[in-house]
Amino acid sequence: MGTLYIVATPIGNLKDITFRAVEVLKEVDFVLCEDTRVTKKLLDHYEIKKPVLSYHQHSKLNKVDFILTLLKEGKNLALVSDAGTPGISDPGNKLISKLAEVGPPQIKIVPIPGPSAVTAAASISGFPMDKFLFLGFPPKKRKRKKFFEEIANSKHSVIFYESPYRIVRTLEELRIMNQELRIIVARELTKKFETVYRGEIGEVIKEIEKGIIKGEFVVIVER
Ligand code: SAM
Repeated sequence: MGTLYIVATPIGNLKDITFRAVEVLKEVDFVLCEDTRVTKKLLDHYEIKKPVLSYHQHSKLNKVDFILTLLKEGKNLALVSDAGTPGISDPGNKLISKLAEVGPPQIKIVPIPGPSAVTAAASISGFPMDKFLFLGFPPKKRKRKKFFEEIANSKHSVIFYESPYRIVRTLEELRIMNQELRIIVARELTKKFETVYRGEIGEVIKEIEKGIIKGEFVVIVER
């Protein structure tokens, strides 16, 4: 029986990785990743020499079969994504779901927990976080209005991800629902240009628009 380790990796700062994650990456037979260049950078940093196999949402079924064969042969594999915890708004789920169908005793799936942009942002928000709603990325076209209504009507603080290309438009659409929303926008967490904007939504939009809009963003809406 092979083991598939689901390994969380840094969301920016390469030092944000657990001892156990490094140990597992050193011990497995293969590393499955989204983008081999991104993962090789991490492996090089920790002087880990391992064969990497790219896996992404659109991987053909035969790739899943190949991974299955490796596990059935008793090989141990680590699945990583480009950043953070695999499966949280990134590829991996489909593969895990296929492999979980096979399940033990043939395949064991083991989490190696660590960073995620959602928990990093939540940890600095100061907003009530006993319960929260995580919505991933806003839909790009249809169902956007419904997405913002869900946030405006939520009883619990809401966390979502957004890209630099849409962050201002998204916040503007949310502001239309309720101008008094208090939010934080966490940009480039753990990286050189880490910035956290806090306050009423209109004020935050103004602050973001003052600079060059670049990087990765997490938004949290207070409740
Ligand atoms: N699986 C990842 C995790 O556990 O956070 C999330 C993957 S998702 C494809 C990528 C999105 O996460 C980015 O577009 C951004 O919204 C958010 N993100 C990732 N790294 C970030 C960082 N360092 N600072 C702020 N947001 C980040």
